[in-house]
Amino acid sequence: MENFQNQPPLDFSKEKNRKEMGKAISNARKQLGWIYSLIVDKTKVYTQKNIPSINPALYNEIVGKVSKASVNNAEEAVSAANKAFNVWSRITPKERAMYLLKAADLMEEKRFEFAAWQILEVGKNWYEADAEVCEAIDMLRYYAEEIIRLGKPILMRPDLPGETNSYGYRPIGAALVISPWNFPLAITCGMTSASLAAGNTVILKPSSQSPVIAFKMVEIFREARLPDGALNFLPGSGSEIGDWLVSHPLIDLIAFTGSKDVGLRINRLAAENPGKRGIKRVIAEMGGKNAVIVDSDADIDETIKGAIASAFSFQGQKCSALSRLIIPKNIREEFLARFIEAVDSITIGSPEDPGNFMGPVIDANSLKNIKNYIETGKKECKLLYEREVKRLPSQRGFFVGPTVFEGSENCVIFKEEIFGPVLLVIKAENFDDALRIANNSEYALTAGLYSRNPKNIGEFKKEILANVKYINRKITGAQVGRQPFGGSGMSGFGDSKAGGPDYLPLKFLQIFMTSEIISENTMRRGYAPLD
Ligand code: NAP
Repeated sequence: MENFQNQPPLDFSKEKNRKEMGKAISNARKQLGWIYSLIVDKTKVYTQKNIPSINPALYNEIVGKVSKASVNNAEEAVSAANKAFNVWSRITPKERAMYLLKAADLMEEKRFEFAAWQILEVGKNWYEADAEVCEAIDMLRYYAEEIIRLGKPILMRPDLPGETNSYGYRPIGAALVISPWNFPLAITCGMTSASLAAGNTVILKPSSQSPVIAFKMVEIFREARLPDGALNFLPGSGSEIGDWLVSHPLIDLIAFTGSKDVGLRINRLAAENPGKRGIKRVIAEMGGKNAVIVDSDADIDETIKGAIASAFSFQGQKCSALSRLIIPKNIREEFLARFIEAVDSITIGSPEDPGNFMGPVIDANSLKNIKNYIETGKKECKLLYEREVKRLPSQRGFFVGPTVFEGSENCVIFKEEIFGPVLLVIKAENFDDALRIANNSEYALTAGLYSRNPKNIGEFKKEILANVKYINRKITGAQVGRQPFGGSGMSGFGDSKAGGPDYLPLKFLQIFMTSEIISENTMRRGYAPLD
């Protein structure tokens, strides 16, 4: 990466930024309940059925009503994306990059607005909402720069007279992008911009919990004057149109981020239903059950700060979130006494108030699911901390407080992804035991270590199976171009890292593009233009 720089986050200690953010939330509030369309080719399509998007902090408030695609709408979108592929795939990589860079500039101009929608639609706090907008802008700029680099074919054996052999890449076809609600802008934008940069056209099926933000992102691409049909917006129920789209013969690749169960289903259906252009390519970024190891000599202040941020920011609803905290038995008591006090100081309430660290979880189902896991935890483990009900927000939202258990590797909450603010503490006999416990999971996404012992740090780097390893820092908040992100095991399939050098060469090129070698006998006319 020659020019790429991460978008700096906003400094909310500055009054100007606080005022702008407040204004953006008020403006977004004035648009609550608006009706949004599908976008198929160049047409905005309003359907009879729609998806109500609910403010999770105030569940009688409708953020927006988004048209809900039927199978007929989906058929039209597939046909539009395939038609547009003839145009978009022939545009040079550099020109495609220009569209992405334009979209990045437009998003940067509207960064407060985009952050405001995150706060209202998914309940992110100000800092998390802003960080996500930065990440989305980074994705656009990073992939733009990458496709310029990769768009130039490599000359193989240029020393041989009489022939030229150029090795390059070409796009695949129509991509189905299926995104989750927990990073409704950054991940949606990342998968969409990677597909587009590669020269594929896109049918975007956003999560039914966050379709308004996805619509706003698509509008940015329209403002950037992306050719009609290159990006089609198709919100709809995963169970109603998802299987149908995944199985469609004119879908060539699928970029999915979401749960393990849905990822595995997509993988199976895609393999069983090849496309007209061949076997479908699938990337599935899935869940996590991430561990942090606290070493006996760890800096406890730093560890507590990092563990709280990793386990409870955005209410633990991150694939990278900490859910298993492993502590050696010799520091257990001292550590837990201080840790639990820190957990008790977490503020929870409306995400519109920047004083709140935690907000609501996404919806009623998720709240119920988390509460069920808490009940299971109470049966199997020792409850160390639960927020008193009277200290939870009284407003009507999906709030659950931070919860900490201590237990063993046999507990259900040791094994299953909860996707909520529930943390399990596990006692380790020694450092080797801690490494073993951390690796005892079907998932392999993020892992962390707090330690001042070089030998143990070295062991952690070598032995831990999670693909994104952090040492003496929190395990969430990966940044594009700095901590390329993605897992293996049940955490991910199509093993390469978003926002990193392999995403284009591996995912981008093995999934979003296909390589080709062009060998030309140049003796015939004596010369061949190199490009
Ligand atoms: P989800 O329930 O799997 O949904 C993800 C997307 O899949 C949604 O757009 C959903 O649509 C769609 N979908 C559901 N059923 C489908 C089907 N049969 N065919 C096609 N699409 C279908 O996941 P989520 O609750 O949105 O997100 C949370 C999960 O994502 C967690 O497990 C988290 O760890 C994971 N995640 C992983 C990463 C990573 O990088 N590894 C990043 C973020 C999140 P509907 O909304 O309409 O059902």
